[in-house]
Amino acid sequence: LDRVTTEHDDAAAPPPELREEYAQLAEEVATHQVAYHQKDAPLVSDAEYDELIHRLRRIEAEHPELKSADSPTEQVGGAPSEAFAPVDHIQRLYSLEDLFSREELRVWYDRAVASLQRQRPEEKPRWLVELKIDGLAINLLYRSGELVRAATRGDGITGEDVTHNVRTIKDIPQTLAGENHPEELEVRGEIFMPSADFEAFNETLISAGKPPLANPRNAAAGSIRQKDPAKTAKRPLSMFVHGIGARSGLELTSQHEAYDQLAAWGLPVSPYTEILDTFEQIEAYLDRYQDKRHDLVHQIDGVVIKVDDFTHQRALGHTSRVPRWAAAFKYPPEEVTTELLDIRVQV
Ligand code: NAD
Repeated sequence: LDRVTTEHDDAAAPPPELREEYAQLAEEVATHQVAYHQKDAPLVSDAEYDELIHRLRRIEAEHPELKSADSPTEQVGGAPSEAFAPVDHIQRLYSLEDLFSREELRVWYDRAVASLQRQRPEEKPRWLVELKIDGLAINLLYRSGELVRAATRGDGITGEDVTHNVRTIKDIPQTLAGENHPEELEVRGEIFMPSADFEAFNETLISAGKPPLANPRNAAAGSIRQKDPAKTAKRPLSMFVHGIGARSGLELTSQHEAYDQLAAWGLPVSPYTEILDTFEQIEAYLDRYQDKRHDLVHQIDGVVIKVDDFTHQRALGHTSRVPRWAAAFKYPPEEVTTELLDIRVQV
């Protein structure tokens, strides 16, 4: 068997030019990750970045021996910036697997269904489908109903303490409504600048002779990572919840039950979320929001599909980077001309 493996490896050994391409590509992707996640100043569009990281993943799939443990394909976001105090999340935050076509979505869906079918043959999964908000992930920590800390995702284990800035966002309650709050509760959500506010904010920048912000995601990230909370307070920011982390003594059975509970405590929950049963229903949701994507409160870059039941989520588990119970379907990039900037940009 050893001999067969060796022969196979020899046959698949990457040619030197591929090694070189791989090393260059890995360095380029790592540079873009730092520019995007740590400096809020991307050097290329998301579509261009996605193409580069896709190529990197393809090479790694064909030649796993090239891949090192610190490959950019294994990173969740970026290391926390030294400009903010580091915060260790109680429960880790993950990224999402990207799916770029209906075919990729079908493969992911079938694999999840088959895995659940093997583990829990009597049960049929339901799908919680929601919009992928183009903003910045935040982890809120409430102790006995009081907001005590807010941190960016960072590398998923350690984030940046942005509590003072997050306290300026009106939609995020300082004290939860209702009662029976857990001693400890981590709420995950996406901070965004609403599309209409983003355009108005950019107009004020332009009339003041300043450069406009590149896009709402960048605007949200840049606004939250200000050193001076008074500056953040002037930015129109909002948030929708999209997850729950550590929770002491709170019994919940599903993602939708978690959202209902968080909404009852006054946290902002997206109005666009639906619970669906079949692949066809998920496709219809993708079609619906592809047409409406520019008429929403916030910008989106896709749709997130999650297995709803927490028992099913646990059965599917995680890789080191992403949950296997959720995935992000990305809409193809489209060329649009913004009236405001009068340049062609990709969204
Ligand atoms: P991601 O943005 O593709 O997906 C994970 C994140 O989605 C989560 O952390 C969460 O913050 C967010 N999210 C939004 N709505 C959500 C919802 N309803 N449910 C769950 N999560 C939701 O992954 P990522 O690791 O943050 O970054 C990759 C993205 O960043 C890609 O879109 C990529 O194009 C972009 N990027 C661009 C550049 C560039 O140079 N332009 C560089 C690096 C990354």
